[in-house]
Amino acid sequence: MKTISPELHPRLTPIIDPWVQAVLTDKERLVEQFARYSSPLNIHALQPFAANYALYRQKLEQYRLRHLVLFARKANKCQAFVQEANRLGFGVDTASYRELNECLELGCRPDRLVLTGAIKDERLVRLAVQNNVLIILDNLDECRLVQQVAQLYRKPANVGVRIGGFTVEGQTLYSRFGFLPAEVVSLVSERFGSDNEFSWLQYRGLHFHLNGYSRRQRGAALLTTIECSDALSERGITTTFIDIGGGFLVQYLEDKQEWEHFFQELNRSVQGLREPITFENNGLGLTLIDGLVRGTPTVYPYYNETAKEKFLEEILLYEDNRGQTTASLLRERNIELRLEPGRSLLDQAGVTIARVAFRKWDSRGDLLVGLEMNRTQLMSSSADFLLDPILVSNNRLSSDQPADDRDEENPIQAQPVGAYLVGAYCLEQDIVLKRKMMLDRVPLVGDLVCFINTAGYMMHFFESEAHLFELATNLIAHPVEGQRGRYRYERD
Ligand SMILES: *Cc1c(COP(=O)(O)O)cnc(C)c1O
Repeated sequence: MKTISPELHPRLTPIIDPWVQAVLTDKERLVEQFARYSSPLNIHALQPFAANYALYRQKLEQYRLRHLVLFARKANKCQAFVQEANRLGFGVDTASYRELNECLELGCRPDRLVLTGAIKDERLVRLAVQNNVLIILDNLDECRLVQQVAQLYRKPANVGVRIGGFTVEGQTLYSRFGFLPAEVVSLVSERFGSDNEFSWLQYRGLHFHLNGYSRRQRGAALLTTIECSDALSERGITTTFIDIGGGFLVQYLEDKQEWEHFFQELNRSVQGLREPITFENNGLGLTLIDGLVRGTPTVYPYYNETAKEKFLEEILLYEDNRGQTTASLLRERNIELRLEPGRSLLDQAGVTIARVAFRKWDSRGDLLVGLEMNRTQLMSSSADFLLDPILVSNNRLSSDQPADDRDEENPIQAQPVGAYLVGAYCLEQDIVLKRKMMLDRVPLVGDLVCFINTAGYMMHFFESEAHLFELATNLIAHPVEGQRGRYRYERD
């Protein structure tokens, strides 16, 4: 068995909301949920969601903007967040028939819903048109489909037009989505409106959503979109809103030094200068070519200092070449600013917890901890989820632990140990996290591993049912009134 020095192993300490600590402390109640629903569990809380919304609202009010926040539903499947958005008076961005239909059934106001889905079939368009839900148009075939459906129902369809392919600082940002900025004005002014091809489409506003996390690009895209609205205005067409989509950053980690140290060590690891810190020395986007480390890590910027409302503020303060900010340009025109945050509204709103099924040492001498879950239950487009999980000892079980668990098989039980967390799919690659974890001790069967801050995309976006495994159960932790730190669980 290999030992590694815990001091040299890079840690990535997550920011943890107090509700999570409380849930992990009340172990009895937690273990009951595992007995009832099995592993893994996704546990959510609504207070952080409300607090995140409040940060956006305050910022938008500070700049005296008319506004509408729409929660991007695709980031999490729970209905509870839709109900909470509804209760707090903000909207939901939907992308499929079921997402939209559920929102309508849960009583969301149609004027606080938007349909932005990448593919809209006729059934979905009918649902939106019948209910007066704003449809964001991506291409001409979609315009034709919405026109047909609206004509069929003799009901004008509220539409916005998505813009993509912005040119920022001389470079065109490729996008598969939307119409080019140069196409939008003629589309709306020449083809929409009575007597025209798209006579049943009622133009309301403009929309974009950019890939990546650049504030500058978003600022520049917003300026271009305002220019489009001005050109339309010269032709007598009013833009009531501009929607700048989502992609607002989240700050996941406590410590900048840990973040920097991690990449230094990843670099050294890829060069073979130290024990690997990832499974099979995966470079997370870095590769060694002719002795040199190439590429950049393809990971989410888990540590960043411009998250949520600060990120929004930088977009609002982006200036045109006369020094006017986007916020003041929108205000002058009385255009409503809309945003569609998904991940960032869910910051601190959920965790994923799995039970330890086994421990073993592999042929390389690495400790493998088998979890009752699979990697699709903790997956995003980032090459790895760079937050240290928390090991929760399950005292009740450990007292029942067979005596042979304490024998020479696990001689370093009480010492820090490096381990890989492995999952239930019969794939060599079903490693839940690529990173090697430094655990305080060898876990016991029945212990719990808690992954922090997983509600935005991590738990739901890529989950699959291979081997006919059931999807994870989603619970909402509600504070028990009058009992601080006490939560009761409700299934979503
Ligand atoms: C994904 C998406 C969002 C949400 O993005 P986040 O990064 O979760 O904030 C908003 N709008 C559209 C159109 C999207 O595709």
